[in-house]
Amino acid sequence: MTSAHASLDRFAAGKLAGLDRRNLRRHLQETRPLGGARVERKGQRLVNACSNDYLGLAQHPDVIEAACTASRTYGAGSGASRLVTGGHPLLFELERRLAAFKQTEDCVIFGSGYLANLAITPALAGKGDLVLVDALAHACLHAGARLSGARVETFKHNDMTDLADQLSTLRSSHRRALILTDGVFSMDGDLAPLPDLLALAERHDAWALVDDAHGVGVIGEGRGTAHAFTPPALAPLQMGTLSKALGSYGGYVCASRSVCELLRTRARPLVFTTALPPACIAAALAALDLIENDPALRERPMLLAQRFCRSLGLAAPRSPIVPILIGSETAALQASAQLESAGFLVTAIRPPTVPRGTSRLRITFSAAQDEADVDRLARSLKTILQTAEAAE
Ligand SMILES: *Cc1c(COP(=O)(O)O)cnc(C)c1O
Repeated sequence: MTSAHASLDRFAAGKLAGLDRRNLRRHLQETRPLGGARVERKGQRLVNACSNDYLGLAQHPDVIEAACTASRTYGAGSGASRLVTGGHPLLFELERRLAAFKQTEDCVIFGSGYLANLAITPALAGKGDLVLVDALAHACLHAGARLSGARVETFKHNDMTDLADQLSTLRSSHRRALILTDGVFSMDGDLAPLPDLLALAERHDAWALVDDAHGVGVIGEGRGTAHAFTPPALAPLQMGTLSKALGSYGGYVCASRSVCELLRTRARPLVFTTALPPACIAAALAALDLIENDPALRERPMLLAQRFCRSLGLAAPRSPIVPILIGSETAALQASAQLESAGFLVTAIRPPTVPRGTSRLRITFSAAQDEADVDRLARSLKTILQTAEAAE
């Protein structure tokens, strides 16, 4: 080993030791899907209560069949960027379908939701522009904002007064302005106040980008958070992922034809990365068929979340994401381990995914779970929380 190898290793080991001391080290665990909401970890069968596969479509026979057929017909990979030879007919079909589903003129598909957000803001804003991001928005919205080179400010979570103040102070000294928010907040499960946010955006000539990774498929008849409001609160940039309720992999943005054409030409994470494999695209198309045609499927995650919250006396959920705030990293890890012993997979969520002091269990509900799973989970959690409280 050269001394440069050795200094690199010392650096990595030192960093890891620091994370271990603060209970912030993360470990990858082999977790085998067993079908439905069941998984196997360390030889134990668990009910998965932290997946984003809200409709169980990653395991649906029609979705799997579509992926297999596409692979057999077109091959395993796509071979190049979409602008070279990766312009697969299935991609154009999925873009048309998503645009129709979201009622926009057009749609662009990216390699993942994360890549979509690294693509959109930098293609629309740069030096001299202003980007305002909700403090609790997903990491990739913040990353896209920073990558753009624009002035980036955060506004307090869902606080429209703070957003209005910042727009009043800063908007006039910047050329263009973007407002970035989650539709459903990934770690809190609450919704952005989209009608108010869009009204502010309108007043200040700012463009709103709503990341609806957790809304599509489960909120607003499956069309997303915009449709949880009457009339629908339609942002000009509606981003989402194929990787959650659609059970596949990939990301997209639905917008006007000109905006989408600009992204196809200028968005670097589309130009310089390989197109999605045919299997992912075909799986998402099959998932979209199921979502459009099965209201009972779409409603099930919310019904299970409501059942769970009722039985624990929690406030009514706004999405299938129910956070149980614990506080310290240690206590959150311990509660998660106790749930695992009781047969449930609920990973502890710690900083930097959530702010310091708000480590939590993030429970998600999926159409693949059954009522008995949800009732057992509520009982186990109640016991764990009561025991923790008694020990304080
Ligand atoms: C998961 C998530 C993403 C990233 O989507 P991927 O397709 O998994 O890369 C983006 N935004 C939000 C709010 C998310 O929760």
